[in-house]
Amino acid sequence: MPESAILLPMRDNDWTRVLGWPGYKVYRHEIDEPGKRLKLWVRRKRANKLLVCSGCGKPTGEIVASYEREVRDLPCFEYLTTVVVELYRVRCPDCGVKAEKVSHLPSKAPFSQRFEDAVGQACESAAASRVARQFGLAASTVRAIDQRYLQRWAATRRKSALRQMGVDEIFMGKKQKFITVVSNLKTAEPLWFGAERKKETLDEFFAKQLSPFQRSAVQAACVDMWEPFKQSIEQWLPNCRIIYDKFHVRREKALNHSGCKSHPGTGSLHPVAIGAAVEVTKRLEPPVKRVA
Ligand SMILES: [Zn+2]
Repeated sequence: MPESAILLPMRDNDWTRVLGWPGYKVYRHEIDEPGKRLKLWVRRKRANKLLVCSGCGKPTGEIVASYEREVRDLPCFEYLTTVVVELYRVRCPDCGVKAEKVSHLPSKAPFSQRFEDAVGQACESAAASRVARQFGLAASTVRAIDQRYLQRWAATRRKSALRQMGVDEIFMGKKQKFITVVSNLKTAEPLWFGAERKKETLDEFFAKQLSPFQRSAVQAACVDMWEPFKQSIEQWLPNCRIIYDKFHVRREKALNHSGCKSHPGTGSLHPVAIGAAVEVTKRLEPPVKRVA
């Protein structure tokens, strides 16, 4: 063991290395042993001069004021860790006086990006209430963090082109009734959810989510035998092949042959939607509710 490791106390310089916020250095730290809390004060390193406007994302030079923000970061061993960051308000030629943009701080909420990422990842395998207990947060806070985490994920990932689309409805219960789900059949990924299962529902997807070029690139659509979906596809994608899902055709035939009253689409679940969409519906519970 090197001698320096035994003799020297933990310095701010060491905390800078442990914290690992690129471009920032720790200039003060406080350890509350009984409360098991660690607090680090950080500011920009001298070389880290580039200030970016949070309004437009453009670089800007003029500092108007400085202020501090305290955010929760990942824990350090048993210690709940918070970081007090020195920040600047800058004058942007386009936006006026704005807060600077800092990559470690994704929103105005008092959390660092990697803390939000940890909460979002925990939400992938557990209910919000359980994640809330694990991190000592309110369930509503966890849901808000998870939503931001998903938005960041959706904004940065590469999306595959939509060539073969699946359209189906999911029965959500007596109150909500149906939602419409559009999936990319190639990637088995649900792309969009809309309230109800009308022609107008699917019309909205075509109008708002796809550009004319993207619409022209869709080669085939796999639907169940629900007439409004067929009408919408024929209107928006005149050159697209409509393929009836075998599962639904057989089901329709069986119902007709057995003399049962046919309910096209009722309770039908597309194979793609069953796996992926139901999972995502559960996770995206607040947005789906808002759609209703
Ligand atoms: Zn700006």
